[in-house]
Amino acid sequence: MQPKTASLSSSTHTTLTSLFVSPTQVLKGEAILLQAGNAIARLGERPLVVGGQQTLKVISPHLDPIFKKFKLQSAQAPYTPDCSESSLEALETALKQHQGDFIIGVGGGKALDTAKLLAHQHQLPIITIPTSAATCAAWTALSNIYSDEGAFQYDVPLVKCPDLVILDYEIVKKAPKRTLVAGIGDAIAKWYEASVSSGTSTATLTIAAVQQARVLRDLLFQKSVAALETPGGEEWREVVDACVLLAGVIGGLGGANCRTVAAHAVHNGLTHIPAAHGTLHGEKVAYGILVQLRLEEMIQGNQLAVSSRQQLLKFYEQIGLPKTLEGLGLSKATLAELRQAAEITCQPKSDIHRLPFAVSPDQLLAAMVSTTV
Ligand SMILES: [Zn+2]
Repeated sequence: MQPKTASLSSSTHTTLTSLFVSPTQVLKGEAILLQAGNAIARLGERPLVVGGQQTLKVISPHLDPIFKKFKLQSAQAPYTPDCSESSLEALETALKQHQGDFIIGVGGGKALDTAKLLAHQHQLPIITIPTSAATCAAWTALSNIYSDEGAFQYDVPLVKCPDLVILDYEIVKKAPKRTLVAGIGDAIAKWYEASVSSGTSTATLTIAAVQQARVLRDLLFQKSVAALETPGGEEWREVVDACVLLAGVIGGLGGANCRTVAAHAVHNGLTHIPAAHGTLHGEKVAYGILVQLRLEEMIQGNQLAVSSRQQLLKFYEQIGLPKTLEGLGLSKATLAELRQAAEITCQPKSDIHRLPFAVSPDQLLAAMVSTTV
């Protein structure tokens, strides 16, 4: 595998890069969805609402009065079984049957990724309504595709960020606490990954993105405990903004120079173990950060990685992020399963190779079982 950081940073000098920094409009606030009618109705007349079965039921009382008031003809379609190619095919049929002219995605990362990709494929406007702060999917111009069984397959860069993001604290407040914990794990990964994948880039926007990622991490170190203690409180809102909005800004600003590295690659590998499906994206990513630091420590002799990892272990303990395979519910995973996950993580196209050194499946396995040493 070629050293991607070098080729990426040199390519920025010669190629014109499209930037997708931000959605066209973001509405955020308590019960803000109630006031979003005009902004929604501007995008079309026949929305197709995409989400999980349960979420679609829960969101109906919020959306139906808006549809009625603005005379919008809506239909609903679930994304089952996953954010997968077969779900997208079924949604395409639903979209055609309804003759939908814009998409509203409601739910967590996978629901929003599916809705965004459906809109992208049909060049339709897209609204995202996150129901938790577990990821920054509501914001980003990227969708991850999984198999029907939930194993990560590939990601699809989209041509734009959503047309409208509606971050309604009233709705997000009702999500399980664990989703915010996971969102914090996914958001802090931005620093550990962007600071590596940006390499020695001196590009203005790359430096800006990496520094924002550091600010994001520090903000989460300071405010997460208080936020989790008081859902709906001031710190809670700030942490939700950090996980959903600021994390999205960093992805947009950094673009191809601030991609994911080993933390997300480890996540992607773990999704191939069925027992790992009980944990959330951000929980696996958080564990992946520890693995990444352990690799930097073991292979590169990086002493800074040692102190970073110790700092994170304390933070994870405070807020309840998993530190080990056991913490991810994988104490009963077989060596064969773990080895397969490690091999998938080390496949040639994997983002783990954005690390400035080569990693073998054996080295990765050794790091995976020693995150707390
Ligand atoms: Zn992520």
